[in-house]
Order: sequence, then structure tokens, then C-alpha cells
Amino acid sequence: MKRFVLIHYHEINLKKNNRGWFENRLKEHVTALLDGLADDGIRRFAGRLFIPLRLESPIQEIERRLRTAFGIANFAFVWEVAADLEAIRGALRELLTGKRFGSFKIEARRGTKDFSMNSQQVNAELGAYVCELTGVPAKMENPDLTCFVELVGQHAYIYFDKIPGGGGLPARTSGRVLCLLSGGIDSPVAAYRMMRRGCRVLFVHFHSFPHTTIEAQEKVRRISQVLSRFEMESKLFLVPFADLQREIVAYAPPPLRVLLYRRFMMRIAEVLALEEGAQGLVTGDSLGQVASQTLENLKAVSSVTQLPIFRPLIGDDKEDIIRTARSIETYDISILPDQDCCTMFVPKHPETMARIERLDQAESALDVSRLVEAAVRGTTSEKVHADFRELRIADCGFRIAD
Ligand code: ATP
Ligand code: MG
Repeated sequence: MKRFVLIHYHEINLKKNNRGWFENRLKEHVTALLDGLADDGIRRFAGRLFIPLRLESPIQEIERRLRTAFGIANFAFVWEVAADLEAIRGALRELLTGKRFGSFKIEARRGTKDFSMNSQQVNAELGAYVCELTGVPAKMENPDLTCFVELVGQHAYIYFDKIPGGGGLPARTSGRVLCLLSGGIDSPVAAYRMMRRGCRVLFVHFHSFPHTTIEAQEKVRRISQVLSRFEMESKLFLVPFADLQREIVAYAPPPLRVLLYRRFMMRIAEVLALEEGAQGLVTGDSLGQVASQTLENLKAVSSVTQLPIFRPLIGDDKEDIIRTARSIETYDISILPDQDCCTMFVPKHPETMARIERLDQAESALDVSRLVEAAVRGTTSEKVHADFRELRIADCGFRIAD
């Protein structure tokens, strides 16, 4: 029997006119994701994707990778036989040999209408057969074993486990955004949430090297490699921020420092975003989490850019964010000790209710466009490739806190 991965789409099913386009994006993404692991010739058919497997295909690794592909409702490792009752019975006999279960049900589904019987009739027919074969009773509610039988075209696909997919929309179906990625817990989760809605997310990090360590940059690099599992490859911009911070510290009132840092980050990110064709900026702000994230301050920071700023975590509690950060495997990297540029020269009493005019006034002492230009000129960029290796923090080259 031939083996395949059978993929059922998530929201793509709701798309009407451009459904094929979404399906093709998912197909392309899955092809890249499983390069070298599955057989060639992924096929789109009857609202499903079929990925042929080789005998030696690493099932666990394929499962791990497919869990990162958005646009999938669920997937399964299936066996293919002819869409013929006798062939299906034979396959069930073979596949159930050695399986121990106290109850079962058959769950038949027709993907196309080629088969002469409807799903109910198939359930009854195969249920009676398995009952007679094994002596185990059928049970409709919470059976030990569910035998899924999907009838699609000239074939039947048999499987016992349905694996939940990542949901959302396939990679690269919603356009580009640029995410401001600190080394913290929140911004990687914000990036992930935008990727899940089909965005291609590029990253920008502001650093104060040599005042902050080179490890802070390495940390962001590692986070972006782990995040790139969801989009295969991306780009990371590293912006030198120390000179700019020095000027802010020299000329602006201490309570406004962090907000002024943020406004410069937005301005610089906007220039980079426009160069890259990104249509919005993304941050990990969550309302009220820290002083810079009150409504007033978010408004004052947002006012310097024309681009929309997406803040997908705005209504999330820290615990929810941490749970997601753990599940996407960025958490353990985020909590490694580092120095963020915003922790430099932070005043004891930061402003929580900044008025835009006050910030504008504080900036009048600075040559804003020159500072932005200089930072953009000093920016370096690097390609980021998805890193699917198991995360081993000890190998990341960081000093672990005592
Ligand atoms: P995070 O865990 O993402 O660092 P946080 O709770 O520490 O979030 P802040 O430090 O107030 O929040 O930063 C708010 C947002 O500003 C971050 O989520 C991120 O999007 C952006 N940001 C802060 N510092 C940097 C930086 N050095 N480089 C890029 N973006 C940054
Ligand atoms: Mg931070």
C-alpha cells in the first residue's frame, strides 16, 4: 500500500474565487518545508493536498514540520488503496493486525461523489466487517479506535490519527510586514501571530553595541531563525542605536527617553519597511504592561509614522503570551539574560501619559532626519533561514545566568 500525508485545509475552504491561489501557496510552502523528506509530486485534489511518502521518510520529522505550516486544519499519515469495498476490507485486515482496542468506529467521508455508496452505508458495511473480524464492538461515542476512510476519486485513504494543524492562512498570502524584534518574550509572539494570518514577516532589531553585548544580537538572530520555521526564510535588519540614544540622553528630559527611543525606532523601521515593500510595522506591545504601553503613550509613539502599526498582543495577558512563546519555542531563548538597548539610561520615573506635543517639543532639540538617516545608513541586513534543529540552549553560545 502506498503511503501519503493527507492535508485538510483550514480557512481556505471559506475562500471562493481565489481558493486555488491559496491552495497553491500552501502547496509551495509544504514542498519547501518537506524538501528531501517526502517524495516529489505533491498533488492538489478535491480540496486536499496529497504528499507521497517514501518507505524511509522520517514520519516524526515530517509531523513536526507540518505543524508549523499555517493554513492546515489537520493532517494524517494515510494508506492508499483502490476505492473498492473488497480492497478496503483487505487493507483494514492488514492494518488492524496487532492493534489492541476495546471499541471502534468507522468514520467514512466522501471527498468526491464517485463512490456508489454514501458514507453511512460505508460505515455500516465496514463496521460489520471489522466487528466480525476482531470480535470488538462498535461504539459511536469515544471509541478506543477510529478508522477514518476517505473516498477520493478512484482511491480510498485509511488512517487512525488526525493531527491538528496550525490553523490560520498559508505563508505569504497576506503581504509583508516588518516586526520590531527585541530580545524579549513578547515581540517573537507578535511576529508569530502575524505569520499565522499569512504575513511574510521581516525583522528589525535595534542594538546599542558596544554598550550592549554582541550576545544580545546573537539572541535575536536565534529567535528569528526559530520564527523562520513558519516562513522558511526571512531577513533581519540590525540597526545601530547607540549614537542616537546618546543624543536623546544629552538633550531630552529623562522621563521621555524611552518614548523617544520608540519614536525613533518607528521612524527608522518605516524607512526600512518602505524599502522592502512592507505594508505595516508589528510590535509586541500589550496594553498597560509597562509604562511605555499605556494608551496615551502608544498613541504618542504611533504618531510619527504613516504606516499602520499592528500590535497583535494588545489584549493578551502575559501568561497567554508566555504559553504561546513556549509552544513556538522562542521562550527559552527570550529568557536568556541580555541587555536591551531600551534598558540603557532608563529613568526611575518614566512618563506614562505623554502628550504628543511634549515629545515633539523634546525632539526639536534634535536633528531628527539626520539621526534617522545615519541609523539607516549604519544598518546591516542578513538572510535568515529556518532552523529546524532541536533547540539546545547550551549550544547557543550564551552565558547562562548564575
Ligand atoms: P518584548 O518582550 O517584546 O521585548 P517588552 O514587554 O519587553 O516586549 P518593551 O521593551 O516595552 O516591551 O517593548 C515593546 C515593543 O517595542 C517590543 O515588543 C518590540 O516590538 C519593540 N522593541 C523594544 N525594544 C526593541 C529593540 N531593541 N529592537 C526592536 N524592537 C524593540
Ligand atoms: Mg523588551
